[in-house]
Amino acid sequence: MIQQEILTALGIPAAVYDFCHTRELALKEQFERIDAIAEANLAKVLAAFQKHRVSENHFETTTGYGYNDLGRDTLEAVYADIFGTEDAIVRPQLICGTHALSTALFGCLRHGDGLMYATGEPYDTLQGVIGIRPEMGSLAEHGVTYTQADLKADGTPDLEGIVAAIRPETKLVGIQRSKGYLVRHTLSVEEIGSIIKTVKAVRPDIICMVDNCYGEFTEVIEPTNVGADLCVGSLIKNLGGGLAPIGGYIVGRRDLIERCAVRMTAPGLGKEQGPTLGVNRSLYQGLFQSPTVVAAAVKTAVFAAKLFKDLGYEVYPEAEEVRHDIVQTVTFGAPEPLEKFCQGIQAASPVDSYVTPVAWDMPGYDSPVIMAAGNFISGATIELSADAPMREPYVAYFQGALTWEHGKIGMMKAVAQMGQVK
Ligand SMILES: *Cc1c(COP(=O)(O)O)cnc(C)c1O
Repeated sequence: MIQQEILTALGIPAAVYDFCHTRELALKEQFERIDAIAEANLAKVLAAFQKHRVSENHFETTTGYGYNDLGRDTLEAVYADIFGTEDAIVRPQLICGTHALSTALFGCLRHGDGLMYATGEPYDTLQGVIGIRPEMGSLAEHGVTYTQADLKADGTPDLEGIVAAIRPETKLVGIQRSKGYLVRHTLSVEEIGSIIKTVKAVRPDIICMVDNCYGEFTEVIEPTNVGADLCVGSLIKNLGGGLAPIGGYIVGRRDLIERCAVRMTAPGLGKEQGPTLGVNRSLYQGLFQSPTVVAAAVKTAVFAAKLFKDLGYEVYPEAEEVRHDIVQTVTFGAPEPLEKFCQGIQAASPVDSYVTPVAWDMPGYDSPVIMAAGNFISGATIELSADAPMREPYVAYFQGALTWEHGKIGMMKAVAQMGQVK
């Protein structure tokens, strides 16, 4: 129970608090399911830490070339264990998810090879990497061709279409788990497994790479447990647990990880180089906290789905659905309510709460984007944050919350800002 004077200080009217609190009570079953997943994943993380005898000396730092960074190498072994893979790259030198994905794609693909996406249009920034949207240095510029199999109308994978889209030159199939900036179904790990099985039945040599952004720890298994050769993501999303100040990861088959490593550093250098510059402790502690932070984010998304549906907006997914990522969408249908919503999220932030977010032309995106985030780590979307491309049908994509309590207050503030509950 938040004290009345604190609610007033936060700008949350009593009517809004009551409206939201009543709806929270209806979500007990979902919250219990989410907590059970967090428990299973925390157990998995803990077992990997113990197996690799993580100790304080792993938190020490290296500089320069970063040779023999024991903390870095052990963390990579821990990641490989959690994902059930042969090897891993977990580095602060990978700036973000796009950079990690680009490293994996350029690492695996050569001139004349074909890339096929099995889940429809890839995430905005990847379109530049691939060259669907012309960008200097894209895969297209390096002679890599591209094809795509769209998802079916109901958002599930089109297995026949996937087989039909495989060409003789197809070397790698990309599978995007989360919806990105599209209102679409997020794939379950099971569905990802069915895509991989289908591809491998036709051409076992094709590399199956999963863009795992926003999906990590929302289920008790990961795509690498159902046959993915590579799985890639960002540490300022789920696995950084809100503590990683930077970083990306690539886990998978050893031969492919080696290819990615020489692309990340340089041919001949590979994983041997790469100083950790003091971030090891945050990467370990962030990973340790990640299962519970992801649970807080998923609860916040479920809560928001309930609130905004009851306010009359289209939400995706709905509160009752089982989740496969941390992203929630609300379709506002017009710019004003979308802006108000983003302002509410910003105003509920621990940092920069007094700032008004406005749309801007972000590099890598083809329409102006409004972003609400009062973050400890710049751009970290595991923290409560909302992004919205300013285009029809005015959809807010939001995600995160380091704690459920903050997620709840954030949503109450957003509801208050919308001005509909009197
Ligand atoms: C966030 C995201 C990425 C990468 O984005 P970065 O901002 O570069 O970390 C890629 N794919 C999907 C589906 C994403 O959600």
